[in-house]
Amino acid sequence: MTYTLNPIGYLRSCFKEKFAIPRQPLLAPAAQGCIELLAPYDQADAIAGLEEISHIWVIFLFHKNLENTPRLKVRPPRLGGNKSIGVFASRATHRPNGIGQSAVRLERAEPGRLWVSGIDLLDGTPVLDIKPYVPYADSLPMAQNAIATSAPALIEVSWDSAALQQAEQHAQRLAQPLIALIEQCLAQDPRPAYQQPSPERVYGVQFYDVQVRWHYLTLKHIEVLEICSA
Ligand code: SAM
Repeated sequence: MTYTLNPIGYLRSCFKEKFAIPRQPLLAPAAQGCIELLAPYDQADAIAGLEEISHIWVIFLFHKNLENTPRLKVRPPRLGGNKSIGVFASRATHRPNGIGQSAVRLERAEPGRLWVSGIDLLDGTPVLDIKPYVPYADSLPMAQNAIATSAPALIEVSWDSAALQQAEQHAQRLAQPLIALIEQCLAQDPRPAYQQPSPERVYGVQFYDVQVRWHYLTLKHIEVLEICSA
């Protein structure tokens, strides 16, 4: 049987490419976005009650990873990218129906728009549904997952002084916590685990409309080199 799903909205995100997006929500609290709801869900009735709720589940489509060939096993970055596990034991983006779920902070709601933070989602992500986070049911202190026991270890992030000044200027212009966003995302160590970068290798990614460039001083220490218009 085939079902047709229609997005209820689209996410406008600070993340313009997949690289350097945190691998789960709430790892970068400064990562902000806005869910723009489509008719008829853009009316006040659809969000009545959300003012009582701090976090929501966003059910979405991994629209930049949709595939026709089923994958039974995946190689999660957490396992170094060289060990495979069953797709149902992983939160990898390769999914049977391309569906993802993220619990994010709801900052503000108005008819047609939900401002969220702590997102791990790409700009333009189609949103299929939104549900309230329900602490007594969704927070499971007794739950165990020996594959992912804790949040990934953070690495150090420091700044070239000119890059920090550039970031401050862009943060002011955008009226966004750009410095915190860069530090929180790069501290997750976004490089593929199999890469052993030398300091000469420069990495880059676009957040908002700016390009962020950095290199690795050591495997545990990133230096931000430049922030410029994308
Ligand atoms: N929290 C969600 C889940 O568990 O279903 C997503 C986890 S997934 C590992 C997070 C990664 O998905 C991000 O680091 C980013 O690279 C990728 N991603 C985010 N939005 C995407 C999209 N719309 N299409 C494809 N990949 C996306």
